[in-house]
Amino acid sequence: MRRETKLMHYGRNTAGPGPANPPVVRASTILHDSVAAYRDTKRRRESDDSVLSYGRRGTTTAHVLADAVRDLEGGDASFLFPTGVAALAGAISAFAGAGDHLLIVDTVFPATRSFCESQLRRNGVEIDYIPWDTIDLSPWITAKTKAVMVESPASQTFEVMDLPALCRSATAKGITVIADNTYGSGWLYHPLELGCDVSVIAGTKYLSGHADVMMGVASARGEACAPLRAVVHASGQTLAPDEAYACLRGMRTLGLRLERHHESGLLLADYFAKRPEVSEVLHPGLTGHPGHEIWRRDASGCNGLLSVRFRPGFALEAFLDRLQIFSIGSSWGGFESLAMPIAPDESRSFVKEESPDPMARFHIGLEHPQDLIEDLTASFAVLED
Ligand SMILES: *Cc1c(COP(=O)(O)O)cnc(C)c1O
Repeated sequence: MRRETKLMHYGRNTAGPGPANPPVVRASTILHDSVAAYRDTKRRRESDDSVLSYGRRGTTTAHVLADAVRDLEGGDASFLFPTGVAALAGAISAFAGAGDHLLIVDTVFPATRSFCESQLRRNGVEIDYIPWDTIDLSPWITAKTKAVMVESPASQTFEVMDLPALCRSATAKGITVIADNTYGSGWLYHPLELGCDVSVIAGTKYLSGHADVMMGVASARGEACAPLRAVVHASGQTLAPDEAYACLRGMRTLGLRLERHHESGLLLADYFAKRPEVSEVLHPGLTGHPGHEIWRRDASGCNGLLSVRFRPGFALEAFLDRLQIFSIGSSWGGFESLAMPIAPDESRSFVKEESPDPMARFHIGLEHPQDLIEDLTASFAVLED
């Protein structure tokens, strides 16, 4: 079955007449009719993540969602969390403890960096940053290096990493590679198939897709499953059934939505590139973008994100304030177009000289792209007066 069809069938009730979607099952206690049955549940859940045993281990609503993401990501197990940051924190904690050395790509999502700096360092983890184009880890590795945290394309600037090369270099030394796959969201890009051990998605973005759910999911393959499972269970991570239901419902249109985000994103990238106010458009689908050739090799498309560097002195804030269809806000991956000012250099180590040019990140939503272009053109026109 092709993946477009599978999206429609995850959680399908095959037992007889019933709803097309798995219902919201709300529970803390799961009742058993004998001590023997209770003991049997406890025994079976040790080797089967989909056993209904207690609310904190998820009910059937969450189990269906976890299995759907596991299938999309090509993993052996997936674990749900209440936010993307919780999933990243859980995944990294599973592989980096006191006395261990952790490598992090410099272009990682800022909240990932701040979790590592504020919590892991305090707990005795040593941290070093690596440039986004690292393919050989040997200059960075010490005897204590346990894990590498990567993200491709990069947050806000979208440089594409050569994950297969980096993973070969990590695996040769027994180092676990954890990827933030929120950009690809299990559809455009498959870090586990490229050699990573763990792939994390903020389901808050494209998986749920409607700007109304917070959710994170970490998927693992092979030997990485057990440490991840242990952290999830020990720290009580779970996803509430209503959130799981909403996320699975959003995923039915994941492929369709991303096709449209891809097309409109590229169209708007071309539009910005032709504007005289713009000095650079950052989008992995553009020829010449850092890592574009690798993206073509390893990914099946782009999402709706792009960043724009404007010429020095451009009145960015007034320009954004005048937009009518684009709203100002954090996050992305919903149906709606968004814009916000960014300063990616501020949270990075390998910046030679911080650029003073105004920059913005745009999320190109599912509106008609011509309306978006007209919105931007009207706001640019005011500047020309
Ligand atoms: C949004 C985001 C996260 C965090 O997700 P939350 O659900 O907001 O905690 C992590 N990584 C990336 C790349 C993101 O864009």
